[in-house]
Amino acid sequence: MLGSGPSASGDHDVVGRSVLHATPGGPYPGRVPPPTPDLDPGTADAVRDARRLVDVSRRIVVLTGAGISTDSGIADFRGPNGLWTKNPAAERASNIATYLSDPELRRQNWARRAAGDLWPHVEPNVGHDALVALQDRGILHTLITQNVDELHQRAGIESERVVEIHGTTRKVACLACEYRDTMEEVLVRVRAGEDDPACPRCGGVLKSATISFGQSLVAADLARSEQATRQCDLMMAVGTSLAVFPIANVVPMAASMGTPVVIVNAEPTDFDPLATVVVNAGISDVLPTICGRGAASPHR
Ligand SMILES: [Zn+2]
Repeated sequence: MLGSGPSASGDHDVVGRSVLHATPGGPYPGRVPPPTPDLDPGTADAVRDARRLVDVSRRIVVLTGAGISTDSGIADFRGPNGLWTKNPAAERASNIATYLSDPELRRQNWARRAAGDLWPHVEPNVGHDALVALQDRGILHTLITQNVDELHQRAGIESERVVEIHGTTRKVACLACEYRDTMEEVLVRVRAGEDDPACPRCGGVLKSATISFGQSLVAADLARSEQATRQCDLMMAVGTSLAVFPIANVVPMAASMGTPVVIVNAEPTDFDPLATVVVNAGISDVLPTICGRGAASPHR
């Protein structure tokens, strides 16, 4: 949808909702946030409180999870339509020991990617755009994401500002040396007939540059996340159930230092009691208002 230009009538995204396009050259080119839905009074109050915290903050750290990408049509992993529910081989491939020891599994995995099975045409949504508004306002310190879809960068977040704590599926890494390349470059080789492409530098096994089960997080990424947490004056967790560790620990870490915490998620999380403000609502419905892209006070 990005770059498709203005459209008077809008069109439909992958989840079948109407998508409107902004006028190019406006203050926030891109997708127009939907009108704020009728929130129940408690949620509307929480949204306003979250916005007030954002407005007085200067160094915001945001931690995002799968919930911010669902409106881009990216399925979760274990839900009824989840990637792994529908394709158990993909779950097996996400275990590093299985991936290394089973060439047939790797061949299936590369074939599926080459066929464009994995998020071929996804675009950022208004939730991603809302976080770009924080950057535009000069108050986004660091964006830590558990997502591997690079949609934050595609929405316009500067890549130096993003910590991809679980890696990215848009790049490929050698499991034996430091070689990295874009996924597209390697898929060209797969489509040309290499069903299990090897590292061109050392002959090692190539894999998408994500952190698989059984692999450690990148120590430098974790250190950067913790340093940003120490420096921030507001911690926002968006679209994450805060159940994946160790990265979820940035929330209690911020709270323990007296830093305000805002949690925006469809469902409650275990860390809600630590939060200054909890907003349980659809991310796309509330994040533009919270970040300063939508109307500040929809009900007053
Ligand atoms: Zn290598």
